[in-house]
Amino acid sequence: MPAPRSPRPATPSKPPPQQPGPATAIINGLQALYPEAHCELVFASPFQLLVATILSAQSTDKMVNAITPGLFTRFPDAAALAAADPAEVERLVARTGFFRQKAKNIVGSARLITTVHGGEVPRTMEALCTLPGVARKTANVVLGSAYGMNEGIAVDTHVTRLAGRLGLSRHTDPVKIERDLVGLFPRERWTQLGHQIIWHGRRVCQARKPACQSCTLAPHCPAAGRV
Ligand code: SF4
Repeated sequence: MPAPRSPRPATPSKPPPQQPGPATAIINGLQALYPEAHCELVFASPFQLLVATILSAQSTDKMVNAITPGLFTRFPDAAALAAADPAEVERLVARTGFFRQKAKNIVGSARLITTVHGGEVPRTMEALCTLPGVARKTANVVLGSAYGMNEGIAVDTHVTRLAGRLGLSRHTDPVKIERDLVGLFPRERWTQLGHQIIWHGRRVCQARKPACQSCTLAPHCPAAGRV
Protein backbone atom coordinates (compact mmCIF):
# COMPACT_ATOMS: atom_id res chain seq x y z
CA MET A 1 0.00 0.00 0.00
CA PRO A 2 1.53 3.28 -1.03
CA ALA A 3 2.44 5.58 1.81
CA PRO A 4 -0.03 8.43 2.17
CA ARG A 5 1.19 11.54 0.47
CA SER A 6 2.15 14.29 2.76
CA PRO A 7 0.17 17.42 2.03
CA ARG A 8 1.89 19.70 -0.45
CA PRO A 9 3.44 22.61 1.35
CA ALA A 10 1.54 25.74 0.71
CA THR A 11 3.23 28.02 -1.81
CA PRO A 12 4.57 30.93 0.19
CA SER A 13 2.77 34.05 -0.82
CA LYS A 14 4.99 36.65 -2.48
CA PRO A 15 6.15 39.34 -0.09
CA PRO A 16 4.80 42.76 -1.02
CA PRO A 17 7.28 44.80 -3.03
CA GLN A 18 9.62 46.64 -0.69
CA GLN A 19 9.65 50.40 -0.76
CA PRO A 20 13.24 51.62 -1.01
CA GLY A 21 14.46 53.30 2.18
CA PRO A 22 15.22 56.99 2.02
CA ALA A 23 18.98 56.39 1.64
CA THR A 24 18.39 54.05 -1.32
CA ALA A 25 15.97 56.48 -2.92
CA ILE A 26 18.49 59.30 -2.49
CA ILE A 27 21.44 57.41 -3.93
CA ASN A 28 19.32 56.24 -6.87
CA GLY A 29 18.05 59.77 -7.41
CA LEU A 30 21.57 61.20 -7.39
CA GLN A 31 22.76 58.51 -9.80
CA ALA A 32 19.93 59.36 -12.18
CA LEU A 33 20.75 63.07 -11.97
CA TYR A 34 24.55 62.92 -12.19
CA PRO A 35 25.79 59.64 -13.66
CA GLU A 36 28.88 61.44 -14.93
CA ALA A 37 29.77 63.28 -11.69
CA HIS A 38 33.49 63.62 -11.14
CA CYS A 39 36.05 65.70 -9.29
CA GLU A 40 35.94 69.20 -10.79
CA LEU A 41 39.54 70.04 -9.95
CA VAL A 42 41.84 69.76 -12.98
CA PHE A 43 44.91 67.57 -12.44
CA ALA A 44 47.33 65.36 -14.36
CA SER A 45 48.73 63.25 -11.50
CA PRO A 46 47.96 62.24 -7.90
CA PHE A 47 50.45 64.88 -6.74
CA GLN A 48 48.69 67.63 -8.68
CA LEU A 49 45.32 66.57 -7.24
CA LEU A 50 46.79 66.62 -3.74
CA VAL A 51 48.09 70.16 -4.25
CA ALA A 52 44.87 71.36 -5.88
CA THR A 53 42.80 69.93 -3.02
CA ILE A 54 44.96 71.60 -0.37
CA LEU A 55 44.56 74.89 -2.26
CA SER A 56 40.78 74.48 -2.51
CA ALA A 57 40.24 74.94 1.24
CA GLN A 58 38.22 78.15 1.79
CA SER A 59 38.30 78.72 -1.97
CA THR A 60 36.49 77.39 -5.04
CA ASP A 61 37.44 74.75 -7.58
CA LYS A 62 37.05 77.44 -10.26
CA MET A 63 39.65 79.65 -8.60
CA VAL A 64 42.01 76.74 -8.02
CA ASN A 65 41.66 75.64 -11.66
CA ALA A 66 42.51 79.20 -12.70
CA ILE A 67 45.83 79.25 -10.87
CA THR A 68 47.08 75.66 -11.05
CA PRO A 69 48.12 75.73 -14.74
CA GLY A 70 50.70 78.41 -13.86
CA LEU A 71 51.77 76.61 -10.69
CA PHE A 72 52.09 73.20 -12.37
CA THR A 73 53.94 74.57 -15.37
CA ARG A 74 56.56 75.98 -13.01
CA PHE A 75 56.49 73.05 -10.51
CA PRO A 76 54.99 69.98 -12.20
CA ASP A 77 55.85 67.34 -9.59
CA ALA A 78 56.85 66.77 -5.97
CA ALA A 79 60.60 67.04 -6.64
CA ALA A 80 60.22 70.43 -8.33
CA LEU A 81 57.90 71.85 -5.65
CA ALA A 82 60.08 70.47 -2.84
CA ALA A 83 62.96 72.61 -4.12
CA ALA A 84 60.83 75.73 -4.68
CA ASP A 85 61.38 79.12 -3.15
CA PRO A 86 58.35 79.47 -0.81
CA ALA A 87 58.01 83.18 -1.67
CA GLU A 88 57.53 82.32 -5.34
CA VAL A 89 54.95 79.66 -4.46
CA GLU A 90 53.11 82.17 -2.28
CA ARG A 91 52.82 84.54 -5.23
CA LEU A 92 51.54 81.78 -7.51
CA VAL A 93 48.80 80.62 -5.11
CA ALA A 94 47.91 84.01 -3.62
CA ARG A 95 44.46 84.26 -5.23
CA THR A 96 43.19 81.13 -3.42
CA GLY A 97 43.43 82.89 -0.02
CA PHE A 98 45.37 81.90 3.10
CA PHE A 99 48.27 81.73 0.70
CA ARG A 100 51.16 81.72 3.21
CA GLN A 101 49.84 78.67 5.02
CA LYS A 102 48.85 76.95 1.79
CA ALA A 103 52.26 77.57 0.21
CA LYS A 104 53.91 76.21 3.34
CA ASN A 105 51.68 73.12 3.27
CA ILE A 106 52.16 72.24 -0.39
CA VAL A 107 55.94 72.74 -0.26
CA GLY A 108 56.09 70.80 3.03
CA SER A 109 53.99 67.97 1.53
CA ALA A 110 56.22 67.91 -1.56
CA ARG A 111 59.30 67.61 0.64
CA LEU A 112 57.89 64.74 2.69
CA ILE A 113 56.70 62.94 -0.44
CA THR A 114 60.17 63.31 -1.94
CA THR A 115 62.18 62.36 1.12
CA VAL A 116 59.94 59.76 2.79
CA HIS A 117 57.72 58.34 0.05
CA GLY A 118 60.12 58.07 -2.89
CA GLY A 119 58.41 60.87 -4.82
CA GLU A 120 54.99 59.12 -4.90
CA VAL A 121 51.89 60.37 -3.14
CA PRO A 122 51.12 57.69 -0.53
CA ARG A 123 48.11 55.41 -1.03
CA THR A 124 46.93 55.06 2.54
CA MET A 125 44.75 57.29 4.69
CA GLU A 126 47.25 57.04 7.53
CA ALA A 127 50.28 58.12 5.49
CA LEU A 128 48.39 60.86 3.64
CA CYS A 129 47.24 62.38 6.93
CA THR A 130 50.87 62.87 8.01
CA LEU A 131 51.36 65.41 5.19
CA PRO A 132 51.02 69.07 6.15
CA GLY A 133 47.60 70.50 5.31
CA VAL A 134 46.08 67.05 4.76
CA ALA A 135 43.21 65.63 6.81
CA ARG A 136 40.59 63.01 5.95
CA LYS A 137 38.76 65.15 3.40
CA THR A 138 41.83 65.79 1.25
CA ALA A 139 43.05 62.22 1.70
CA ASN A 140 39.65 60.86 0.58
CA VAL A 141 39.74 63.07 -2.52
CA VAL A 142 43.19 61.78 -3.48
CA LEU A 143 42.46 58.13 -2.71
CA GLY A 144 39.10 58.24 -4.49
CA SER A 145 39.76 60.42 -7.52
CA ALA A 146 43.46 59.80 -8.19
CA TYR A 147 43.77 56.17 -7.09
CA GLY A 148 40.20 54.89 -7.53
CA MET A 149 40.01 53.63 -3.94
CA ASN A 150 36.80 53.79 -1.91
CA GLU A 151 38.38 54.49 1.46
CA GLY A 152 35.72 56.94 2.67
CA ILE A 153 33.62 59.91 1.59
CA ALA A 154 35.18 63.38 1.35
CA VAL A 155 33.06 65.65 3.53
CA ASP A 156 33.26 69.27 2.43
CA THR A 157 30.89 72.16 2.98
CA HIS A 158 28.38 70.86 0.38
CA VAL A 159 28.36 67.34 1.77
CA THR A 160 27.94 68.71 5.30
CA ARG A 161 24.96 70.83 4.25
CA LEU A 162 23.23 68.16 2.16
CA ALA A 163 23.78 65.35 4.65
CA GLY A 164 21.87 67.48 7.17
CA ARG A 165 19.08 68.57 4.83
CA LEU A 166 18.55 65.09 3.42
CA GLY A 167 18.40 63.60 6.92
CA LEU A 168 21.48 61.42 6.38
CA SER A 169 23.35 62.75 9.42
CA ARG A 170 22.53 64.91 12.42
CA HIS A 171 26.17 65.76 13.02
CA THR A 172 28.16 68.83 12.05
CA ASP A 173 31.60 67.32 12.61
CA PRO A 174 32.95 66.04 9.24
CA VAL A 175 34.40 62.84 10.72
CA LYS A 176 31.04 61.93 12.29
CA ILE A 177 29.15 62.84 9.10
CA GLU A 178 31.49 60.60 7.11
CA ARG A 179 30.91 57.78 9.57
CA ASP A 180 27.14 58.12 9.14
CA LEU A 181 27.37 58.22 5.34
CA VAL A 182 29.65 55.22 4.96
CA GLY A 183 27.25 53.28 7.19
CA LEU A 184 24.34 54.05 4.88
CA PHE A 185 25.79 53.41 1.44
CA PRO A 186 27.68 50.55 -0.23
CA ARG A 187 31.44 50.94 -0.28
CA GLU A 188 31.79 50.72 -4.05
CA ARG A 189 29.67 53.88 -4.35
CA TRP A 190 31.43 56.08 -1.80
CA THR A 191 33.66 58.17 -4.06
CA GLN A 192 31.08 58.65 -6.78
CA LEU A 193 28.36 59.42 -4.25
CA GLY A 194 30.57 62.13 -2.75
CA HIS A 195 30.90 63.76 -6.18
CA GLN A 196 27.16 63.45 -6.80
CA ILE A 197 26.27 65.12 -3.50
CA ILE A 198 28.70 67.95 -4.26
CA TRP A 199 27.25 68.38 -7.77
CA HIS A 200 23.72 68.56 -6.32
CA GLY A 201 24.90 71.08 -3.75
CA ARG A 202 26.42 73.27 -6.45
CA ARG A 203 23.61 73.00 -8.98
CA VAL A 204 20.34 72.60 -7.02
CA CYS A 205 20.65 72.53 -3.23
CA GLN A 206 22.67 75.69 -2.84
CA ALA A 207 23.38 77.08 0.61
CA ARG A 208 21.22 80.19 0.43
CA LYS A 209 18.61 79.29 -2.15
CA PRO A 210 17.91 75.59 -2.55
CA ALA A 211 15.65 74.93 -5.55
CA CYS A 212 13.30 72.57 -3.69
CA GLN A 213 10.46 73.10 -6.16
CA SER A 214 12.44 71.61 -9.03
CA CYS A 215 14.49 69.14 -6.94
CA THR A 216 13.78 65.51 -7.83
CA LEU A 217 15.00 64.43 -4.38
CA ALA A 218 12.25 66.46 -2.66
CA PRO A 219 9.93 63.44 -2.03
CA HIS A 220 12.72 61.87 0.05
CA CYS A 221 14.05 65.06 1.68
CA PRO A 222 12.86 66.07 5.16
CA ALA A 223 14.01 69.65 4.50
CA ALA A 224 12.11 70.11 1.23
CA GLY A 225 10.43 73.51 1.24
CA ARG A 226 11.68 74.28 4.74
CA VAL A 227 15.05 75.94 4.07
S1 SF4 B 1 14.42 69.19 -1.60
FE1 SF4 B 1 15.43 71.18 -1.23
S2 SF4 B 1 16.62 70.90 0.64
FE2 SF4 B 1 16.09 68.84 -0.13
S3 SF4 B 1 17.84 68.24 -1.42
FE3 SF4 B 1 16.34 69.18 -2.76
S4 SF4 B 1 16.94 71.35 -2.88
FE4 SF4 B 1 17.97 70.45 -1.10
